[in-house]
Amino acid sequence: MSTATVPTIHHRINGHETAGTSRRTAPVWNPATGERQADVLLAESADVDAAVQAARTALPDWADTSVMRRSRLMFAFRELVAQHVDELARIVSAEHGKVLDDAKGEVVRGLEVIDFACGIPQLLKGEYSDQVSNGVDLYSFRQPLGVCAGITPFNFPAMVPLWMHPIAIATGNTFVLKPSERNPTVSNFIAGLYADAGLPDGVFNVVHGDKVAVDAILDHPDIAAVSFVGSTPIAQYVHERATANGKRVQALGGAKNHAVVLPDADLDQAADHLVAAAYGSAGQRCMAISVAVAVGDVAGPLVERLRDKARAIKVGPGQDAGSEMGPVVSPEALERVRGYIDAGLDAGADLALDGRDHGVPGDGFFVGPTLFDGVTPDMDIYRDEIFGPVLVVVRAESLDAAIGLINASPWANGTAIFTASGRAARVFQRSVQVGMIGVNVPIPVPMAFYSFGGWKDSLFGAHHIHGPEGVAFYSRAKAVTTRWPDDTPTPQPNLHFPTAT
Ligand code: NAD
Repeated sequence: MSTATVPTIHHRINGHETAGTSRRTAPVWNPATGERQADVLLAESADVDAAVQAARTALPDWADTSVMRRSRLMFAFRELVAQHVDELARIVSAEHGKVLDDAKGEVVRGLEVIDFACGIPQLLKGEYSDQVSNGVDLYSFRQPLGVCAGITPFNFPAMVPLWMHPIAIATGNTFVLKPSERNPTVSNFIAGLYADAGLPDGVFNVVHGDKVAVDAILDHPDIAAVSFVGSTPIAQYVHERATANGKRVQALGGAKNHAVVLPDADLDQAADHLVAAAYGSAGQRCMAISVAVAVGDVAGPLVERLRDKARAIKVGPGQDAGSEMGPVVSPEALERVRGYIDAGLDAGADLALDGRDHGVPGDGFFVGPTLFDGVTPDMDIYRDEIFGPVLVVVRAESLDAAIGLINASPWANGTAIFTASGRAARVFQRSVQVGMIGVNVPIPVPMAFYSFGGWKDSLFGAHHIHGPEGVAFYSRAKAVTTRWPDDTPTPQPNLHFPTAT
């Protein structure tokens, strides 16, 4: 490990970079070389409080800013993000490790949420009912919640925060973001783009940190709502603690996504998609396919194709043009993934491709595409989210058995089926207890104008994220009943519960 002096990444509160009261730091790695490239400050609760007070101070004016001005600001922000896609992708790749094209893809998917937020005047339109009773009209409209907070994971450092803050801010809230401490730089850059777009100071703030900062958010009396995306144990913890403190919470958790391959599927196409979905971003996607369920006699030819295609993947530094798959994010992640490969072998699974032999020189956190066959549901490599480039193949006798396997799993983020049968696809989509489903599509991430979210242990709370449910999450409705009486004398007060006349 290098002992050279490296830059320190600061918080960004009320429009300014600041260290606040923070003294603790965490290393920001270059996953491709294993070098520490920066230190990030870890907030104390006073720093979180400073960000919340900035957001609270900015709130009245921002919530009162006309919806057209908020929309125009989103358009300006959208243009700046679009102009900086390549730079944002470089920042993401440097700290996450993913290849540049993949990083660009996540920035563009985040940009699409800003596109959606630009339509906030349409999205906030209320309803109006004329003459619901004699001389009485009824209408509804939505208002912001107040100061909202986002706590986000390392694997999509640009896109996942963009699922949250553009919608929260367009809706009239102010925001405090606590991004992953593993790749903090992109959030400060985004804060700079908001400022350049003309967003008033204090509307968007970034506080870096670990559990101390998260707990300060969950307990802060001036935060109205918390959006969390990360692993399941932390999602559950965030949901319980923030809900107990009276906040509105959406907490998206981890995943173990199954793809079912039926005997009538186009096997080459299915194998191409599975390899891309299992090994893209080194398997560090919440929508990665990590279990292939081979139905009937498809297993043998499928495994053969998967192994050949996975073996051909070029593993190397994310910023090298020839690389198709980069390293995992940290030394701890590397150790975890290697530990699961050992555990799979100990459990008796058949290691069809061993990613420990990746052939990339140096001290980067590399592990190559790994494929296990003959995996059974009792094995840890089936049950646990490995969050690395490890695909396991499980065999099932029938579509019903495959659906049963999926529905017995506590994970329920995404799933996919590969088949030529519309009927089988329809049975599958109606029966699986999973939030997002692909038919011959391996990573069924909905577009920004739909909402994203899993079921069961993959999401805690009532709302999915972005899209219409995002607008509902970051706002609350008022229903107004009005009467404008003429000067007819009022009859005697009537004490019964009012009903329409
Ligand atoms: P993580 O749960 O370790 O961290 C997420 C956030 O929680 C970070 O900001 C981190 O600082 C904070 N945190 C970590 N430990 C904490 C603790 N003990 N107490 C309080 N806060 C804590 O997740 P990660 O490793 O950064 O990201 C990978 C995980 O995120 C995977 O499980 C992946 O499936 C999941 N994920 C889910 C989705 C989804 O939409 N469902 C999307 C992306 C990632």
